[in-house]
Amino acid sequence: MIGCDCAVCRSTDPRDNRLRSSIYVETPECAFVVDTGTDFRTQALRENIRRVDAVIFTHSHTDHIMGFDDLRRFAAARGYMPVYASPDTMADLRRVFRFAFEAENPFPGYLKPEPHLVTAPFSLGETTITPLPVPHGKTTVNGYLFSRGGRRLVAYLSDCSGVPPEIAELIRGVHALIIDGLRPLPHPTHLSVRQALEIATGINPKATYLTHIAHELAQSAEADLPAGAYIAYDGLKLDFE
Ligand SMILES: [Zn+2]
Ligand SMILES: [Zn+2]
Ligand SMILES: [Zn+2]
Repeated sequence: MIGCDCAVCRSTDPRDNRLRSSIYVETPECAFVVDTGTDFRTQALRENIRRVDAVIFTHSHTDHIMGFDDLRRFAAARGYMPVYASPDTMADLRRVFRFAFEAENPFPGYLKPEPHLVTAPFSLGETTITPLPVPHGKTTVNGYLFSRGGRRLVAYLSDCSGVPPEIAELIRGVHALIIDGLRPLPHPTHLSVRQALEIATGINPKATYLTHIAHELAQSAEADLPAGAYIAYDGLKLDFE
C-alpha cells in the first residue's frame, strides 16, 4: 500500500509484497493469461514469460486491465492477440483501448486485439474454460473454471462478494479453488477470509488458495487457516500433470 507503515507493508517476508492479481496458464498446446493488471509488465519480466497465445478477462476494473497494451510483445509474431471477455467487459476494453481496437493499419508491433465474446464455455487447445458469473458488489463479473480431459482442475474467482449455489455446484470438488479473500474484515465488493472459507467448505476443493489479498492480511495468517487452505502469493506455481 502506497505510503503505509503497517506490519504487512514493512514485512520482511517477500510473500507479503504483492502485485495485482492474475494467473498465467501453461498447457502442452498453448499458454494464456487471465487479466493483465497494472503490474502485468513487471510480472511478465519477473517470471520470464515468453509466450501468451490469448488473454481472458474477468472484468474491467483497472487492477485487471491496465496492462493490456503490454500484450503487444506477445502478439508480435502472430500479428494479433485473441481477447476473451464478457460482452460488458469487452465494451469497456473497446472504450478504454480504442486506439488498439480501432486502429486501421496498426504500426508493426502495435497491439491488434481479436475479440471473442464469452457467453458460454470455450476451448483454448485442449483446455475447456467455463465462465462462472459471480457478484462483485453491485456488478457481475466472470470467474473461470479450467478443465482438461474431463478433470476440473482450477476454479479462479479473483473478485467476488458471493458465489451463487448454481456456480458452487459447477465447481464442487475442483482440484484447486482460487478465491477472493481480501482481508479479515468484510468489504462491500470482496469476500472476507471467513466468507471465502465458508464458501470453500461448500465447494469442497482439494485445496483452497485465497487471492486478491490486501495489506490487512499477513502471509503468516496462513497458519491459522484450516487444513487444505492457503494464502496465495506472487509467483506461486501449481502443477496439474
Ligand atoms: Zn500497509
Ligand atoms: Zn474488481
Ligand atoms: Zn480486483
